[in-house]
Amino acid sequence: MIERKQLLNVFDVLLQPERFTDYCPNGLQVEGRQHIGKLVSGVTASLALIEAAVAVGADAILVHHGLFWRGHDGRVTGWLRQRLGLLMQHNINLYAYHLPLDAHAELGNNAQLGARLGLVPHARFGQQQLGWLGEAPAARMASPQALAQHIETVLGRRVTLVAGNAGPLQRVAWCSGGAQGYFEDAMAAGADVFVTGEISEPQAHLARECGVSFIACGHHASERYGAPALAAHVAAQYGLEHQFIDIDNPA
Ligand SMILES: [Zn+2]
Repeated sequence: MIERKQLLNVFDVLLQPERFTDYCPNGLQVEGRQHIGKLVSGVTASLALIEAAVAVGADAILVHHGLFWRGHDGRVTGWLRQRLGLLMQHNINLYAYHLPLDAHAELGNNAQLGARLGLVPHARFGQQQLGWLGEAPAARMASPQALAQHIETVLGRRVTLVAGNAGPLQRVAWCSGGAQGYFEDAMAAGADVFVTGEISEPQAHLARECGVSFIACGHHASERYGAPALAAHVAAQYGLEHQFIDIDNPA
């Protein structure tokens, strides 16, 4: 058992949200019951995740994508009313950490994704140092196609590869989620290939013209590992029950 405020403090000390400029409030987004014994983690505070958390008797949910984002007009109607209403009806706390969870050196999305893909980080790059730069075993770096194939095997889904120069890759850059806008920063940092969740139209041309390969492996798939890693870490420390609930997402 842990108190709501103490759990917030534990997350905040680990993730240091004050160090980031973000698009959403990080921390406790929705206040629920005071004592937490069962923690559910997930990628996004969708209605399906909240329903699943209710079904397993969660006291709190930890997600990467919370409910409140810059640009939303603040009306509690439609889908937001549904999600918020269900949380409040069941007195469930919602903790959300966006960029601070991407960035954490061991438990974060980038660290966890890199570890699963066998990428060894050497440096960070880009805005707020959110991008990671490193290398992989030579066999996986034999060609853009070899790396893409490896990622498909590990993540269990198809990826989109826009190949740059043929032949062996030296340095791989990665950034989980919708970080296609970091492609030029990755190139400036010296990457031969950039791995992120999503691709937009301009990156395909940049990859072909600049010779740097681009691999989009899924926004959800690339951010599936940080929240459960953090939740498991904290649950073990404080004797909480923890369950990761994956709500599949094709994007
Ligand atoms: Zn994301």
